[in-house]
Order: sequence, then C-alpha cells, then structure tokens
Amino acid sequence: MTNQRLFASIITIGDELLIGQTIDTNSAWMAQELNKIGVWVKRRVAVGDTREDIWQALDEESRESKIILITGGLGPTADDITKPLLCDYFGGKMIVNQEVLDHVTNIFLKLNRPIIERNMKQAQVPDVCTVLMNKRGTAPGMLFTKEGCLFISMPGVPHEMKGLMTDEVLPLLKQNYKMPFILHRTLLTAGAGESFLAERIKDWEEALPAHIKLAYLPNYGMVKLRLTSHGADGAALEHELDTLFLALQEQVKDIMITNEDLPLEKALGDLLVKRGKSMATAESCSGGYIAHLVTSIAGSSIYFKGTVVAYSYDAKETILGVNHQTLETKGAVSEETITEMFNGLMNVTTADYGIATSGIMGPGGGTEDKPVGTVWVAVGSREKMVAKRLYFRHDRLKNIELTATNAMMMLFQFIKAEPV
Ligand code: AMP
Ligand code: MG
Repeated sequence: MTNQRLFASIITIGDELLIGQTIDTNSAWMAQELNKIGVWVKRRVAVGDTREDIWQALDEESRESKIILITGGLGPTADDITKPLLCDYFGGKMIVNQEVLDHVTNIFLKLNRPIIERNMKQAQVPDVCTVLMNKRGTAPGMLFTKEGCLFISMPGVPHEMKGLMTDEVLPLLKQNYKMPFILHRTLLTAGAGESFLAERIKDWEEALPAHIKLAYLPNYGMVKLRLTSHGADGAALEHELDTLFLALQEQVKDIMITNEDLPLEKALGDLLVKRGKSMATAESCSGGYIAHLVTSIAGSSIYFKGTVVAYSYDAKETILGVNHQTLETKGAVSEETITEMFNGLMNVTTADYGIATSGIMGPGGGTEDKPVGTVWVAVGSREKMVAKRLYFRHDRLKNIELTATNAMMMLFQFIKAEPV
C-alpha cells in the first residue's frame, strides 16, 4: 500500500448528456466505486458524440490521470462514434473478435430475433485493445494502454457499465495498482442549520489533523457531516477516524438521525424494526410519495402497513372519515383537517405510527393566508399526535419531496422520543 494518490478521470460521451436529456448517472456511480477502492477521481468530463471533442478529452485527461474510464458511444448506430475513434487514437485497425461474435450471436438466438449486419459489427474491435466481455449486452468493453495510462471504454447503458465495472474493471485496478485507503464516516443531523452546526463543533473541527477533512452537506433542514481520511495504514486510519467520529457524535447527539450514510427512509425503517413497530401513511399533497420512498427499502413489508392517497375532499371524507364541515370551513390545508386525516388513518389501519400530509404544492392554488408551499403534516401514535405547519418555497416536485423528507424526519424524531 502507498500514500501516493492514484488519479482517475471519467469521460462520459453522448450528445444527450450535454443537452440534459439524459442525466449522467454513470460517472457518479463510477466515482463512488473508485473511491471505495482508494482511487482518487480527479475530473469528470462530459462530451458530445463529436470526434474532435472526444479526442481532446482523451489528450487532456491522460495528462491529469493514470486511469481514464470512458462510457458511451458504443451503440451500433451511426451517431455512436467512440469505437472507430479509439481505434484511430491508439493507431489500430478493426478486426472481428470471435468470442464477442459468439456472444452477440447467442444473445440474438436466445431472444429469438434475427441478427443483422449492424449487430454483427458489435463484434469488431480495434486490434490494439484487450476485450473485456460484457455479459449484459452486445457492446464489449475495451482496454488500451498508452504512455503509462490505462484507458477503458464501456457502454453507456448504466446496467451494462455496472456489470463491466464490477466483473472486470474494479478487480483489474485492485490487482494492478497500489492504492492508499480512503475512509469515510458520515452522520445525518436534522433541525439545525449548517452555520449553527459549524459553531457548535468549531473547537472539535479546528483540532482535526490536516489529513482528515470534514464536509458539510446541507439538504433542507438536514445536514450530513462527512469525515474523510486517507493514508497507507488502514488499521491506524480506522482507529483514528473512529475516535474522532465518536467525539463528533457526542457533540451532535441530540440532533443526530443516524451515524451511517443511509437515506432517511432506511433509517426510519431500521428504527421501526428495532422497536418492533409499524407505520402507515395518509397522503394528500405527497400523493403516495412517502409510501414510495418507504417501500423502496427492501424488507419494508415488515413495518409498512400501507397508504391512503386521499387527494380529493371525497376521498378524505369517505376513506378517512374527515368531516365535510371541517373541509368546507377550515380548508383541506389546515390543522383541523390534518388532525382528522391522522385520526382516520389510525382507524383504518392497525399501524402503530402514522403520517398524514396535506398542502398546496403549486404552482397554482395558493391564497394570501395559505401561499403555495404551505403544508400541514401530522405524525404520531395511537396515544399522541404532533401536527406542524411547514412552508416550502420551491417548485411542485421539490415541494413534494420536501414534504416527504420532513414528514419522515418528524416521525423519526417522534419515535425516537417515545419510551422504549
Ligand atoms: P450509448 O452507449 O451511447 O449507445 O448509450 C446507450 C444508452 O445509455 C443511452 O440511452 C444513453 O442515454 C444512456 N447513457 C449513456 N451515457 C450515460 C451516462 N453517462 N449516464 C446515464 N446514462 C447514460
Ligand atoms: Mg450514444
């Protein structure tokens, strides 16, 4: 092991990335995986399907990094030009690779689909590359070396890229390079702004050794704190980081949600499992989004009873038993309605805990005393309920997301405060 940083650059190719039609999720995922094995990502560059731009990116990134990972532009259509370009860049000529040809033929046989010349072209590769087999698709991965740099080209399809990274690229990097350890510790706090937090932990932060970095990652009402360390001696680093992390947790323990790098819905689920309790939701303005987040966690069937998406007055009245009178006189976005929605939810489910939401997500529908972004959230148990009026200033989708995260955070804190 070494203390020397090993730098990588990621080049993602595709016009769709530049116009924002496809979000570049590939480089984010790859960066995380590289980081885990101790490779430092120096730059992430997106370029279009343009010969000069790809060429220039290859030149520039190979001056910065020893490892250049490339995705995209390997399809069988004319808009994808990465493969012939790489062939020219590394001074090779195209040849048919028999193993890839058999693999492509097999895929079409299994699908019972005719194979045309264009598909067969997927088996052509530059003679100067080492082929990395793509079990999940027809475009092979290709490895090139030049002047001490390693270049690996992978398909843009995220699922195929991930397969190649996991099966081929990451093991190969681990085998061929000496890498330092990069370690992280992350905790999530809620209810205190980042400047307030920074003040609170100032002394601890100032005493941090130079090789340990602290990052503040704020996200509407919540702040993640990440400690990062790197070096050659893994065991010593772990020990040092754990000691510092414990001291940090002690300073923020009243506002800490979790001391792991987990999404809030996972932290909430873990807490419910630990307490042997269940939950349900009655969602108006969040439209089932809380239920979606909660059920995106594997194993949530143990603690999630279900949701009522009570969007209209009608549904609020017939399913949740909200009084017509309450809706007419107080409005759907009111403390009275949210209280009745919560009570109705606890009546129609057997859950131990519940969440109810009702708000104006925009862009229309706001009034002077209830502007767009006004949300009522209720959380609680069969014995006790807490209702809160929140106010968000974003667009519709962001307001829905914030309603969901804040409601889950409220329930998390409610359960945390319950006697065990
Ligand atoms: P390609 O290899 O260029 O034919 O890309 C195949 C598919 O993968 C297209 O639907 C792209 O939109 C998608 N794709 C390409 N690059 C990326 C990326 N960096 N992140 C996420 N999806 C991508
Ligand atoms: Mg493309």
